[in-house]
Amino acid sequence: MDFEFSEEQKILRQTVKRFVEEQCPRQYVRELDRTGEFPQTLWQKMADLGFLGLPLSAKYGGSEGTMLDMVIVIEELAKRILALAIPFTNTIGLTNKIVSALGTEEQKAEILPKLAKGELKTCFAWTEASGGTDVLAMRTFAEKSHDGKAYVINGSKLFITMAHVSDYIFTVLRTMKDPPKKSQGISCLIVPSKQGGISINPIEKVGQKSTGFCEIHFDNVEVPHQYLLGEENKGWYQLIPLLNGERTCFSAICLGIAEAAFEDAVRYMGERSAFGKTINSFQILQHYVADMKTMIDAGRLLMYKAAWLETTGKQVAFEATEAYLACSNIVHRVTDLGMQILGGYGYTTEFDMERYWRDGRVFRISPMTTEMAKNFLAQSLGMPRSY
Ligand SMILES: Cc1cc2nc3c(=O)[nH]c(=O)nc-3n(C[C@H](O)[C@H](O)[C@H](O)COP(=O)(O)OP(=O)(O)OC[C@H]3O[C@@H](n4cnc5c(N)ncnc54)[C@H](O)[C@@H]3O)c2cc1C
Repeated sequence: MDFEFSEEQKILRQTVKRFVEEQCPRQYVRELDRTGEFPQTLWQKMADLGFLGLPLSAKYGGSEGTMLDMVIVIEELAKRILALAIPFTNTIGLTNKIVSALGTEEQKAEILPKLAKGELKTCFAWTEASGGTDVLAMRTFAEKSHDGKAYVINGSKLFITMAHVSDYIFTVLRTMKDPPKKSQGISCLIVPSKQGGISINPIEKVGQKSTGFCEIHFDNVEVPHQYLLGEENKGWYQLIPLLNGERTCFSAICLGIAEAAFEDAVRYMGERSAFGKTINSFQILQHYVADMKTMIDAGRLLMYKAAWLETTGKQVAFEATEAYLACSNIVHRVTDLGMQILGGYGYTTEFDMERYWRDGRVFRISPMTTEMAKNFLAQSLGMPRSY
Protein backbone atom coordinates (compact mmCIF):
# COMPACT_ATOMS: atom_id res chain seq x y z
CA MET A 1 0.00 0.00 0.00
CA ASP A 2 1.19 3.48 -0.78
CA PHE A 3 0.33 6.13 1.81
CA GLU A 4 2.34 8.88 0.08
CA PHE A 5 0.73 11.94 -1.44
CA SER A 6 1.87 12.79 -4.95
CA GLU A 7 4.30 15.70 -5.49
CA GLU A 8 1.41 17.76 -6.89
CA GLN A 9 -0.67 17.07 -3.78
CA LYS A 10 2.21 18.07 -1.49
CA ILE A 11 2.59 21.31 -3.42
CA LEU A 12 -1.17 21.89 -3.23
CA ARG A 13 -1.09 21.46 0.56
CA GLN A 14 1.87 23.83 0.89
CA THR A 15 0.13 26.42 -1.29
CA VAL A 16 -3.02 26.35 0.87
CA LYS A 17 -0.93 26.46 4.07
CA ARG A 18 0.86 29.56 2.75
CA PHE A 19 -2.43 31.18 1.73
CA VAL A 20 -3.86 30.56 5.21
CA GLU A 21 -0.72 31.83 7.00
CA GLU A 22 -0.45 34.97 4.89
CA GLN A 23 -4.11 35.87 4.38
CA CYS A 24 -5.96 34.58 7.44
CA PRO A 25 -4.25 35.79 10.61
CA ARG A 26 -5.67 34.38 13.83
CA GLN A 27 -6.83 37.79 14.98
CA TYR A 28 -8.86 38.24 11.81
CA VAL A 29 -10.47 34.81 12.20
CA ARG A 30 -11.46 35.68 15.80
CA GLU A 31 -12.95 38.93 14.55
CA LEU A 32 -15.01 37.04 11.95
CA ASP A 33 -16.38 34.83 14.71
CA ARG A 34 -17.37 37.96 16.66
CA THR A 35 -19.01 39.82 13.75
CA GLY A 36 -20.44 36.79 11.95
CA GLU A 37 -19.42 38.36 8.63
CA PHE A 38 -18.77 36.25 5.55
CA PRO A 39 -15.11 36.76 4.39
CA GLN A 40 -15.98 37.89 0.87
CA THR A 41 -12.58 39.43 0.10
CA LEU A 42 -10.80 36.18 0.97
CA TRP A 43 -13.34 34.20 -1.04
CA GLN A 44 -12.46 36.36 -4.04
CA LYS A 45 -8.74 35.83 -3.39
CA MET A 46 -9.34 32.08 -3.39
CA ALA A 47 -11.01 32.45 -6.77
CA ASP A 48 -8.14 34.57 -8.12
CA LEU A 49 -5.62 31.97 -6.97
CA GLY A 50 -7.57 29.23 -8.76
CA PHE A 51 -8.71 27.37 -5.61
CA LEU A 52 -12.42 27.72 -6.28
CA GLY A 53 -12.13 26.04 -9.67
CA LEU A 54 -10.30 23.04 -8.20
CA PRO A 55 -12.93 20.30 -8.73
CA LEU A 56 -14.57 21.86 -11.82
CA SER A 57 -14.17 20.63 -15.35
CA ALA A 58 -11.65 22.58 -17.49
CA LYS A 59 -14.55 23.39 -19.83
CA TYR A 60 -15.99 25.64 -17.10
CA GLY A 61 -12.72 27.19 -15.93
CA GLY A 62 -11.69 24.50 -13.45
CA SER A 63 -8.62 22.34 -12.94
CA GLU A 64 -10.33 18.93 -12.63
CA GLY A 65 -8.98 18.14 -9.17
CA THR A 66 -9.97 14.91 -7.45
CA MET A 67 -11.71 14.27 -4.12
CA LEU A 68 -8.24 13.72 -2.63
CA ASP A 69 -7.21 17.20 -3.77
CA MET A 70 -10.43 18.62 -2.35
CA VAL A 71 -9.94 17.17 1.12
CA ILE A 72 -6.32 18.36 1.26
CA VAL A 73 -7.53 21.93 0.69
CA ILE A 74 -10.47 21.56 3.08
CA GLU A 75 -8.35 20.09 5.88
CA GLU A 76 -5.86 22.98 5.67
CA LEU A 77 -8.57 25.65 5.48
CA ALA A 78 -10.49 24.17 8.41
CA LYS A 79 -7.35 24.24 10.55
CA ARG A 80 -7.53 28.01 10.54
CA ILE A 81 -10.67 29.37 8.91
CA LEU A 82 -13.89 27.43 8.90
CA ALA A 83 -15.61 30.35 7.21
CA LEU A 84 -13.80 29.33 4.00
CA ALA A 85 -13.73 25.55 4.53
CA ILE A 86 -17.53 25.24 4.76
CA PRO A 87 -18.43 27.19 1.59
CA PHE A 88 -15.57 25.47 -0.23
CA THR A 89 -17.29 22.19 0.67
CA ASN A 90 -20.87 23.28 -0.08
CA THR A 91 -20.77 26.03 -2.65
CA ILE A 92 -17.87 24.58 -4.60
CA GLY A 93 -17.67 20.83 -3.94
CA LEU A 94 -21.31 19.88 -3.64
CA THR A 95 -22.71 22.39 -6.13
CA ASN A 96 -20.19 21.34 -8.75
CA LYS A 97 -20.93 17.69 -8.14
CA ILE A 98 -24.70 17.87 -8.40
CA VAL A 99 -24.86 20.40 -11.24
CA SER A 100 -22.24 18.46 -13.22
CA ALA A 101 -24.13 15.19 -12.64
CA LEU A 102 -27.73 16.33 -13.06
CA GLY A 103 -27.71 19.77 -14.70
CA THR A 104 -28.66 20.68 -18.25
CA GLU A 105 -26.04 22.31 -20.49
CA GLU A 106 -27.70 25.70 -19.82
CA GLN A 107 -27.58 25.19 -16.04
CA LYS A 108 -23.93 24.17 -16.17
CA ALA A 109 -23.04 27.16 -18.34
CA GLU A 110 -24.93 29.53 -16.04
CA ILE A 111 -23.54 28.26 -12.74
CA LEU A 112 -20.18 26.51 -13.04
CA PRO A 113 -17.98 29.27 -14.57
CA LYS A 114 -19.28 31.73 -11.96
CA LEU A 115 -18.42 29.31 -9.17
CA ALA A 116 -14.80 29.21 -10.32
CA LYS A 117 -14.67 33.01 -10.50
CA GLY A 118 -16.10 33.43 -6.99
CA GLU A 119 -19.10 35.24 -8.44
CA LEU A 120 -21.78 33.17 -6.78
CA LYS A 121 -22.53 31.29 -3.63
CA THR A 122 -25.09 28.58 -3.07
CA CYS A 123 -26.84 26.77 -0.26
CA PHE A 124 -28.77 23.50 0.06
CA ALA A 125 -32.22 23.50 1.60
CA TRP A 126 -33.50 20.11 2.73
CA THR A 127 -34.37 20.45 6.42
CA GLU A 128 -37.74 21.71 7.60
CA ALA A 129 -39.29 22.17 11.02
CA SER A 130 -41.11 18.89 10.34
CA GLY A 131 -37.83 16.97 10.16
CA GLY A 132 -34.09 17.00 9.64
CA THR A 133 -33.26 13.34 10.18
CA ASP A 134 -36.71 12.42 8.96
CA VAL A 135 -36.13 14.67 6.00
CA LEU A 136 -38.81 12.99 3.88
CA ALA A 137 -41.39 14.52 6.22
CA MET A 138 -40.80 17.73 4.21
CA ARG A 139 -43.88 19.70 3.21
CA THR A 140 -42.56 22.49 1.00
CA PHE A 141 -44.44 22.06 -2.25
CA ALA A 142 -43.93 23.29 -5.81
CA GLU A 143 -47.01 23.29 -8.00
CA LYS A 144 -46.70 23.52 -11.77
CA SER A 145 -48.27 26.69 -13.23
CA HIS A 146 -51.21 26.15 -15.63
CA ASP A 147 -49.07 26.63 -18.73
CA GLY A 148 -46.43 24.24 -17.32
CA LYS A 149 -43.70 26.86 -17.73
CA ALA A 150 -43.04 27.53 -14.06
CA TYR A 151 -43.25 26.14 -10.54
CA VAL A 152 -44.89 28.02 -7.68
CA ILE A 153 -43.28 27.22 -4.31
CA ASN A 154 -44.86 27.47 -0.87
CA GLY A 155 -43.35 26.33 2.43
CA SER A 156 -40.40 26.88 4.75
CA LYS A 157 -36.91 25.51 5.25
CA LEU A 158 -34.90 25.60 8.46
CA PHE A 159 -31.23 25.76 9.51
CA ILE A 160 -29.94 26.48 5.99
CA THR A 161 -26.21 27.27 6.07
CA MET A 162 -25.22 30.44 4.18
CA ALA A 163 -28.73 31.15 2.89
CA HIS A 164 -28.31 34.85 3.79
CA VAL A 165 -25.35 35.27 1.41
CA SER A 166 -26.30 32.78 -1.31
CA ASP A 167 -27.33 33.60 -4.86
CA TYR A 168 -29.06 30.28 -5.44
CA ILE A 169 -30.95 28.08 -3.00
CA PHE A 170 -30.90 24.46 -4.13
CA THR A 171 -34.31 23.61 -2.73
CA VAL A 172 -35.38 20.01 -2.29
CA LEU A 173 -39.16 19.84 -2.14
CA ARG A 174 -42.28 17.92 -3.03
CA THR A 175 -43.67 18.10 -6.55
CA MET A 176 -46.25 15.33 -6.14
CA LYS A 177 -49.13 15.27 -3.70
CA ASP A 178 -49.72 11.87 -2.00
CA PRO A 179 -46.95 9.84 -3.71
CA PRO A 180 -47.13 6.03 -3.27
CA LYS A 181 -43.83 6.19 -1.31
CA LYS A 182 -42.41 9.11 0.71
CA SER A 183 -39.18 8.98 -1.30
CA GLN A 184 -41.11 9.53 -4.53
CA GLY A 185 -42.38 12.90 -5.74
CA ILE A 186 -39.28 14.81 -4.55
CA SER A 187 -37.53 17.28 -6.86
CA CYS A 188 -34.77 19.86 -6.65
CA LEU A 189 -35.22 23.42 -7.90
CA ILE A 190 -32.38 25.91 -8.26
CA VAL A 191 -34.10 28.94 -6.82
CA PRO A 192 -32.51 32.39 -7.34
CA SER A 193 -32.52 33.88 -3.86
CA LYS A 194 -33.70 37.31 -5.05
CA GLN A 195 -36.93 35.86 -6.45
CA GLY A 196 -40.06 37.63 -5.17
CA GLY A 197 -41.79 35.94 -2.23
CA ILE A 198 -38.63 34.67 -0.50
CA SER A 199 -37.77 35.82 3.00
CA ILE A 200 -34.59 34.73 4.74
CA ASN A 201 -34.16 35.12 8.49
CA PRO A 202 -30.83 34.31 10.17
CA ILE A 203 -30.98 32.21 13.36
CA GLU A 204 -28.48 32.73 16.21
CA LYS A 205 -26.24 29.70 16.75
CA VAL A 206 -23.47 28.51 19.07
CA GLY A 207 -20.54 28.27 16.64
CA GLN A 208 -19.56 28.57 12.96
CA LYS A 209 -20.69 32.16 13.15
CA SER A 210 -19.50 33.47 9.79
CA THR A 211 -21.37 30.91 7.76
CA GLY A 212 -24.68 31.69 9.47
CA PHE A 213 -27.80 29.58 9.20
CA CYS A 214 -31.30 30.67 8.36
CA GLU A 215 -34.97 30.01 8.09
CA ILE A 216 -36.30 30.50 4.55
CA HIS A 217 -39.96 31.17 3.73
CA PHE A 218 -41.34 30.66 0.23
CA ASP A 219 -44.58 32.49 -0.35
CA ASN A 220 -45.88 31.82 -3.88
CA VAL A 221 -42.35 31.96 -5.28
CA GLU A 222 -42.39 31.48 -9.03
CA VAL A 223 -39.42 29.74 -10.64
CA PRO A 224 -39.14 29.03 -14.38
CA HIS A 225 -39.27 25.38 -15.39
CA GLN A 226 -35.64 25.56 -16.62
CA TYR A 227 -34.51 25.66 -12.98
CA LEU A 228 -35.57 22.08 -12.32
CA LEU A 229 -32.39 20.12 -11.56
CA GLY A 230 -32.48 16.52 -12.76
CA GLU A 231 -35.74 14.68 -13.28
CA GLU A 232 -39.01 15.79 -11.76
CA ASN A 233 -40.16 13.54 -8.86
CA LYS A 234 -36.90 11.52 -8.95
CA GLY A 235 -34.88 13.96 -6.85
CA TRP A 236 -34.40 11.69 -3.85
CA TYR A 237 -32.94 8.84 -5.89
CA GLN A 238 -30.74 11.17 -7.93
CA LEU A 239 -29.40 13.32 -5.09
CA ILE A 240 -28.75 10.86 -2.27
CA PRO A 241 -25.82 9.01 -3.95
CA LEU A 242 -24.17 12.37 -4.63
CA LEU A 243 -24.03 13.23 -0.93
CA ASN A 244 -21.37 10.66 -0.01
CA GLY A 245 -18.60 13.02 -1.02
CA GLU A 246 -20.05 15.65 1.30
CA ARG A 247 -19.48 13.28 4.24
CA THR A 248 -15.83 12.88 3.29
CA CYS A 249 -15.39 16.65 2.98
CA PHE A 250 -17.02 17.25 6.36
CA SER A 251 -14.71 14.60 7.85
CA ALA A 252 -11.80 16.70 6.58
CA ILE A 253 -13.33 19.77 8.24
CA CYS A 254 -13.61 17.90 11.56
CA LEU A 255 -9.97 16.83 11.33
CA GLY A 256 -8.76 20.34 10.45
CA ILE A 257 -10.39 21.72 13.60
CA ALA A 258 -9.09 18.81 15.70
CA GLU A 259 -5.53 19.33 14.39
CA ALA A 260 -5.67 23.03 15.27
CA ALA A 261 -6.87 22.17 18.79
CA PHE A 262 -4.09 19.58 19.16
CA GLU A 263 -1.34 21.97 18.04
CA ASP A 264 -2.57 24.78 20.30
CA ALA A 265 -2.79 22.41 23.27
CA VAL A 266 0.76 21.08 22.77
CA ARG A 267 2.14 24.62 22.46
CA TYR A 268 0.29 25.72 25.59
CA MET A 269 1.59 22.75 27.60
CA GLY A 270 5.16 23.86 26.87
CA GLU A 271 4.45 27.39 28.08
CA ARG A 272 2.25 26.95 31.16
CA SER A 273 3.84 26.04 34.50
CA ALA A 274 2.40 24.46 37.63
CA PHE A 275 4.20 23.12 40.70
CA GLY A 276 7.50 24.48 39.39
CA LYS A 277 7.48 22.75 35.99
CA THR A 278 5.79 23.08 32.63
CA ILE A 279 2.55 21.16 32.52
CA ASN A 280 3.83 19.04 29.60
CA SER A 281 5.78 17.08 32.21
CA PHE A 282 2.61 15.71 33.82
CA GLN A 283 2.01 12.20 32.63
CA ILE A 284 -1.76 12.47 32.53
CA LEU A 285 -1.63 15.44 30.15
CA GLN A 286 0.94 13.64 28.01
CA HIS A 287 -1.56 10.79 27.76
CA TYR A 288 -4.27 13.23 26.66
CA VAL A 289 -1.96 14.40 23.88
CA ALA A 290 -1.14 10.83 22.87
CA ASP A 291 -4.87 10.08 22.69
CA MET A 292 -5.59 13.23 20.68
CA LYS A 293 -2.89 12.46 18.11
CA THR A 294 -3.90 8.81 17.81
CA MET A 295 -7.54 9.73 17.25
CA ILE A 296 -6.61 12.33 14.63
CA ASP A 297 -4.31 9.95 12.76
CA ALA A 298 -6.92 7.18 12.83
CA GLY A 299 -9.55 9.63 11.51
CA ARG A 300 -7.18 10.71 8.75
CA LEU A 301 -6.75 7.11 7.59
CA LEU A 302 -10.51 6.67 7.29
CA MET A 303 -11.06 10.06 5.68
CA TYR A 304 -8.26 9.71 3.12
CA LYS A 305 -9.36 6.17 2.33
CA ALA A 306 -12.90 7.43 1.58
CA ALA A 307 -11.43 10.22 -0.57
CA TRP A 308 -9.24 7.72 -2.38
CA LEU A 309 -12.21 5.40 -3.03
CA GLU A 310 -14.15 8.26 -4.56
CA THR A 311 -11.13 9.44 -6.56
CA THR A 312 -10.68 5.97 -8.02
CA GLY A 313 -14.39 5.64 -8.83
CA LYS A 314 -15.20 2.94 -6.27
CA GLN A 315 -18.24 2.56 -3.98
CA VAL A 316 -17.82 4.93 -1.07
CA ALA A 317 -21.13 5.21 0.83
CA PHE A 318 -20.12 2.92 3.72
CA GLU A 319 -16.55 4.21 4.10
CA ALA A 320 -17.58 7.88 3.80
CA THR A 321 -20.15 7.36 6.57
CA GLU A 322 -17.63 5.49 8.73
CA ALA A 323 -15.13 8.31 8.25
CA TYR A 324 -17.76 10.90 9.14
CA LEU A 325 -18.94 9.01 12.22
CA ALA A 326 -15.35 8.70 13.45
CA CYS A 327 -14.20 12.24 12.61
CA SER A 328 -17.28 13.98 14.06
CA ASN A 329 -16.63 12.14 17.34
CA ILE A 330 -12.90 12.82 17.16
CA VAL A 331 -13.31 16.58 16.83
CA HIS A 332 -15.69 16.51 19.78
CA ARG A 333 -13.28 14.56 22.01
CA VAL A 334 -10.09 16.31 20.89
CA THR A 335 -11.47 19.82 21.44
CA ASP A 336 -12.84 18.74 24.81
CA LEU A 337 -9.40 17.45 25.86
CA GLY A 338 -7.86 20.64 24.47
CA MET A 339 -10.11 22.66 26.77
CA GLN A 340 -9.11 20.48 29.69
CA ILE A 341 -5.43 21.04 28.97
CA LEU A 342 -5.85 24.83 28.83
CA GLY A 343 -7.75 24.84 32.13
CA GLY A 344 -9.60 28.11 32.86
CA TYR A 345 -7.90 29.86 29.94
CA GLY A 346 -9.50 27.38 27.58
CA TYR A 347 -12.87 28.64 28.67
CA THR A 348 -12.02 32.28 27.87
CA THR A 349 -12.47 33.91 24.50
CA GLU A 350 -8.81 35.02 24.58
CA PHE A 351 -7.80 31.60 23.27
CA ASP A 352 -9.10 29.83 20.17
CA MET A 353 -9.83 26.59 21.99
CA GLU A 354 -13.38 27.54 22.96
CA ARG A 355 -14.12 28.38 19.32
CA TYR A 356 -12.78 25.03 18.11
CA TRP A 357 -14.97 23.38 20.74
CA ARG A 358 -18.07 25.36 19.68
CA ASP A 359 -17.36 24.96 15.96
CA GLY A 360 -16.66 21.24 16.20
CA ARG A 361 -19.62 20.23 18.33
CA VAL A 362 -22.21 20.51 15.60
CA PHE A 363 -20.78 17.75 13.43
CA ARG A 364 -22.40 15.10 15.61
CA ILE A 365 -25.70 16.74 14.52
CA SER A 366 -25.17 18.10 11.02
CA PRO A 367 -24.98 17.29 8.16
CA MET A 368 -25.78 13.86 9.65
CA THR A 369 -26.46 12.90 13.26
CA THR A 370 -24.26 10.31 14.97
CA GLU A 371 -27.33 8.15 15.48
CA MET A 372 -28.30 8.24 11.81
CA ALA A 373 -24.75 7.46 10.70
CA LYS A 374 -24.84 4.38 12.94
CA ASN A 375 -28.26 3.40 11.60
CA PHE A 376 -26.89 3.54 8.07
CA LEU A 377 -23.81 1.48 8.92
CA ALA A 378 -25.83 -1.14 10.81
CA GLN A 379 -28.28 -1.48 7.92
CA SER A 380 -25.40 -1.79 5.46
CA LEU A 381 -24.08 -4.62 7.65
CA GLY A 382 -27.34 -6.46 7.08
CA MET A 383 -29.30 -5.52 10.22
CA PRO A 384 -33.01 -4.76 9.93
CA ARG A 385 -33.98 -1.12 9.65
CA SER A 386 -34.65 0.11 13.20
CA TYR A 387 -37.05 2.96 12.39
C1 LIG B 1 -25.08 24.30 12.06
C2 LIG B 1 -26.10 23.57 11.24
C3 LIG B 1 -26.11 23.75 9.87
C4 LIG B 1 -27.09 23.13 9.10
N1 LIG B 1 -27.09 23.36 7.74
C5 LIG B 1 -28.08 22.80 6.99
C6 LIG B 1 -28.17 23.09 5.59
O1 LIG B 1 -27.36 23.84 5.02
N2 LIG B 1 -29.19 22.53 4.88
C7 LIG B 1 -30.10 21.71 5.46
O2 LIG B 1 -31.00 21.26 4.75
N3 LIG B 1 -30.06 21.42 6.78
C8 LIG B 1 -29.07 21.95 7.56
N4 LIG B 1 -29.01 21.68 8.90
C9 LIG B 1 -29.99 20.78 9.49
C10 LIG B 1 -29.40 19.43 9.87
O3 LIG B 1 -29.19 18.65 8.71
C11 LIG B 1 -30.37 18.79 10.88
O4 LIG B 1 -30.31 19.58 12.06
C12 LIG B 1 -29.98 17.36 11.17
O5 LIG B 1 -30.20 16.54 10.05
C13 LIG B 1 -30.82 16.82 12.36
O6 LIG B 1 -32.17 17.07 12.18
P1 LIG B 1 -33.04 17.77 13.33
O7 LIG B 1 -32.30 18.96 13.78
O8 LIG B 1 -34.41 17.94 12.81
O9 LIG B 1 -33.03 16.74 14.52
P2 LIG B 1 -34.03 15.52 14.68
O10 LIG B 1 -34.17 14.84 13.37
O11 LIG B 1 -35.26 16.01 15.35
O12 LIG B 1 -33.25 14.58 15.67
C14 LIG B 1 -33.27 14.72 17.10
C15 LIG B 1 -32.57 13.51 17.69
O13 LIG B 1 -33.28 12.32 17.37
C16 LIG B 1 -32.40 11.39 16.77
N5 LIG B 1 -33.11 10.56 15.79
C17 LIG B 1 -34.00 10.97 14.86
N6 LIG B 1 -34.39 9.92 14.12
C18 LIG B 1 -33.74 8.83 14.60
C19 LIG B 1 -33.69 7.46 14.27
N7 LIG B 1 -34.42 6.96 13.26
N8 LIG B 1 -32.88 6.64 14.99
C20 LIG B 1 -32.13 7.12 16.00
N9 LIG B 1 -32.12 8.41 16.37
C21 LIG B 1 -32.90 9.26 15.66
C22 LIG B 1 -31.34 12.25 16.08
O14 LIG B 1 -30.17 11.52 15.77
C23 LIG B 1 -31.14 13.33 17.13
O15 LIG B 1 -30.29 12.88 18.14
C24 LIG B 1 -28.05 22.29 9.70
C25 LIG B 1 -28.04 22.11 11.08
C26 LIG B 1 -27.08 22.74 11.85
C27 LIG B 1 -27.13 22.54 13.34
